[in-house]
Amino acid sequence: MTYLDHNATTPLAEGLSKYILPYLQGDFGNPSSQSYELGRSAKSAIEEARLSVSELIDAKPDEIVFTSGGTESISIAILGVASMMNEGDEILRSAVEHPAVKAVINFCVKSFNLEEQVIPVDINGDLLFDQVTDLSKIKLASVMFANNETGILHDLLTLKKILPETALLHVDATQGIGKIPFSFKDLGIDLCSFSAHKFSGPKGIGALILKEGISWEPPLSGGGQEQGRRGGTESVPLIAGLGYAARYSKKNLESGYSESIRNLRDSFESKLKKELSEVEIVGVNLNRLPNTSNVLIPGVVGSDLVRFLGERDICISAGSACKANTFSPSPVLSAMGYSSLSAVSGIRVSFGHGNTKEDVDLIVSEISNFCKNNNKLEGLLSEGK
Ligand code: PLP
Repeated sequence: MTYLDHNATTPLAEGLSKYILPYLQGDFGNPSSQSYELGRSAKSAIEEARLSVSELIDAKPDEIVFTSGGTESISIAILGVASMMNEGDEILRSAVEHPAVKAVINFCVKSFNLEEQVIPVDINGDLLFDQVTDLSKIKLASVMFANNETGILHDLLTLKKILPETALLHVDATQGIGKIPFSFKDLGIDLCSFSAHKFSGPKGIGALILKEGISWEPPLSGGGQEQGRRGGTESVPLIAGLGYAARYSKKNLESGYSESIRNLRDSFESKLKKELSEVEIVGVNLNRLPNTSNVLIPGVVGSDLVRFLGERDICISAGSACKANTFSPSPVLSAMGYSSLSAVSGIRVSFGHGNTKEDVDLIVSEISNFCKNNNKLEGLLSEGK
């Protein structure tokens, strides 16, 4: 198998499953049971993980709240601020946010009678701040660190500058952490969400980072765990796994992971361009994640190509979908201003640990095979579908 879909999920870091095994077997204590050693051992595993996460993302250990992953972190981050807002207050988001962000904002707007404002993006993925109107009503902004489909990084420092002082900034950093250095402190963020499985950790675990002292009402306070900020008995094995992945990622970033993955991605893009000169690489000259390549291939249906490669054991993704011969273009590319024809033609190749030059050669050759032998989009268009 050739796995080139690391923005979807990643394999576990080497040694991680062995590291967490004791917490699935004999070391099964409840971290709230502090009167005996079994509980204290569970608690210390959690605190060790908290420290490792804080070192990876440059936040204080006490600012970290363990959750079940990106979607939960995003949901409780936004709910916890929105539930304290007044009727008519506004939440600002970008046009290219992940559905997890859009859905919870939608829910909050309806439930608390709030307003939503969307920052448009241009074809370069740049946020069009000058099109935001009446900043004064904005109490919360939610903008992603890096886009999951294109890898394009957003200008959070400028966003922070234009926001009213009283507005909080939530950042969905699910796609950036572990791929490039990330500093919660330096970006001036108030709330930040991410998931372990995007950087070699287990699925079902993530964190919400809450800046010390911000006003936020915990939607899931339950039994008071995580300092009353996220109730529920902690998943000790998964939290320990997140800590392990954080240490692994920090070490890799310090020894040049971003640069080596960028070299591999860049060689894929230049080899593909050599084979198929008509391809367009989205955001090619922009600040983007070093592992992500979003490629538009004129005349191709991205989801068909993804299926073709899947049949050959090569795993990648498409932002678009094709069901019963009707195409739904990638909402991210559509929001950037790409035509529907372009937005269905995109594929996302995302590199990660373990990928090699041979993987690059294989996928380039299979994509060109597909393009030489298939042009389904043209066929379907000529049939008027
Ligand atoms: N945000 C972004 C940018 C993502 O890419 C994803 C997952 O793909 C999520 C949020 C949701 O993360 P999870 O599925 O771990 O809850």
